[in-house]
Amino acid sequence: MLNGKTAVVTGGARGIGAAICKKLASQGADVAIVARSANEQALALEADIAKEYGVKAKVYACDVSDAEQCKATVKQILADFGNITILVNNAGITRDGLMISMKEADFDAVINTNLKGTFNMTQACYRPFMKQKYGKIINLGSVSGLLGTAGQANYAASKAGVFALTKVTARELASRNVTCNAIAPGFIETDMTKAIGEEAAQNYLASIPAGRTGQPEDVANLAAFLASPESDYITGTVIRIDGGLAIS
Ligand code: NAP
Repeated sequence: MLNGKTAVVTGGARGIGAAICKKLASQGADVAIVARSANEQALALEADIAKEYGVKAKVYACDVSDAEQCKATVKQILADFGNITILVNNAGITRDGLMISMKEADFDAVINTNLKGTFNMTQACYRPFMKQKYGKIINLGSVSGLLGTAGQANYAASKAGVFALTKVTARELASRNVTCNAIAPGFIETDMTKAIGEEAAQNYLASIPAGRTGQPEDVANLAAFLASPESDYITGTVIRIDGGLAIS
């Protein structure tokens, strides 16, 4: 379904990003894996994807919080792949803590990666998408950006910003046949959620009607749908994927 398409996935070397890279590749897309560094894990994924799915895969080292690096990376991907049709803004970090003691550096780091990083990569792809009159932008938000989770002032604000950015992007590019949607995951098992500890994880689990935490593949399935032509009439939305947390 995605044959001939090129997907750029930020934070693509592990966690949800890696699952999205594999899912899109399994549907025929070539994949540019954007990672902070071309480390062993990123290069192993690059090799696995090429071998398993027979598509082109390449790692690009880029810190998404740096606008110049984003521009240069997109330019290089266009030169290597010929086009970009799907952009998944997935790179994200947490630096949790109650607001009373949250350090300015931790607030800035989270906003700069999660929100500004999404802006930087979207801006870098804006003109190519506009010119080709086609594109799919998928932004990773979080239920935290909808609920305002305590201890996540920086993270929740960054993700709420991502939702606003999603709507602006959708409006600006709708007439060019470019869609932009956000995914708001609940609790997905990755390195990010490992960091919260066993007790907090158990408490969270108790509030999920589905009775289980999510897997990166659950999110990848939704991302693949939003990357496909089947979702062409969906734009500017935030779709929750949280095992029913919204109704608990
Ligand atoms: P993860 O396992 O911690 O992976 C995060 C990825 O982002 C890593 O590949 C990391 O690269 C990359 N990254 C971080 N800062 C970057 C930067 N400045 N430039 C480029 N790449 C950067 O996290 P995850 O759980 O897969 O989360 C993926 C996305 O889903 C995030 O946006 C997160 O906020 C969102 N989300 C996750 C959950 C969850 O429960 N896991 C819930 C809601 C939303 P390195 O390998 O170089 O560190």
